[in-house]
Amino acid sequence: MRVLITGGAGFLGSHLCDRFLAEGHSVIAMDNLLTGNTANIEHLAGHERFHFIKHDVTNYIYVEGPLDAVLHFASPASPIDYLEFPIPTLKVGALGTHKALGLAKAKNARFLLASTSEVYGDPLIHPQTEDYWGNVNPIGPRGVYDEAKRFAEAMTMAYQRYHGLDTRIVRIFNTYGPRMRQEDGRVVPNFIAQALRGDPLTVYGKGQRTRAFCFVSDLVEGIYRLLMSNEKEPVNIGNPSEMSILNFAKKVIELTNSTSEITFIEPTDMRIKDDPKVRRPDITKARTILGWEPTVLLEDGLAQTIEYFRPLVLK
Ligand code: UDP
Repeated sequence: MRVLITGGAGFLGSHLCDRFLAEGHSVIAMDNLLTGNTANIEHLAGHERFHFIKHDVTNYIYVEGPLDAVLHFASPASPIDYLEFPIPTLKVGALGTHKALGLAKAKNARFLLASTSEVYGDPLIHPQTEDYWGNVNPIGPRGVYDEAKRFAEAMTMAYQRYHGLDTRIVRIFNTYGPRMRQEDGRVVPNFIAQALRGDPLTVYGKGQRTRAFCFVSDLVEGIYRLLMSNEKEPVNIGNPSEMSILNFAKKVIELTNSTSEITFIEPTDMRIKDDPKVRRPDITKARTILGWEPTVLLEDGLAQTIEYFRPLVLK
């Protein structure tokens, strides 16, 4: 296959580039480098089946030659980024998805949308199944991401139904691993960097909010299987093993052998407004249709992530 990956220099996009190349496909990575970084793909420079194009996909996308698949992963993806880049976040989810769909239609390519557990907002049902419609505040700080991704899903389904485009939608739950940005503000890089420096771990509120963390290699496997499957409706991919943020902080301290303490803070800015109280994927659909489930234990995934951050943080 010849595959276009938007957001190809980002955390998930770059791991997808690696996977598709390893399977023998040709990969074009496209990224405007707003939150992506060429360091994530520099090991691919010179690879005969890899090509990078710096481009903002909210503008018309030109790709020469045939394409078999378009994977649309371009977007800021951290709550801190939504605060800093609210309009680019809305634009890439809305205009960027439209351009990527238009390209897939012109090339008669399969299209896969990177959607998110954020479409469920601050969920009123738990765990979240794909048929839940969600509880999203359209005008809150997260609305720029949540609503853009909800629009992106609607647009993708419209291209499927109206144009007959062959589409897939993955709803991605909290994912972590090497190549996350140290400064992206999410809990995994924050806690690991704090623990490695010996600084206090900043738990927001009382740390009773929950998340379930999926290692990036598990996520990539789920996405690969979804693309190859015939499932045209959204599928949750994530790790269902849920824990409180306080317990997560303790786990990071343990695995880094850190002397850090835990500090409880109430951010005065918008960082935790509308922060979902609980989140856990119901992965029955992925298990049944894709035969997929996560295999990497939190301890093992975190150990790899800590080793990735260690030289960067102590520099
Ligand atoms: N969080 C925290 N301390 C931090 C960063 C995040 O306690 O330094 C909390 C945040 O309030 C949320 C959870 O960790 O409840 C996960 O936040 P993250 O930004 O990683 O992603 P989200 O799942 O909210 O999109």
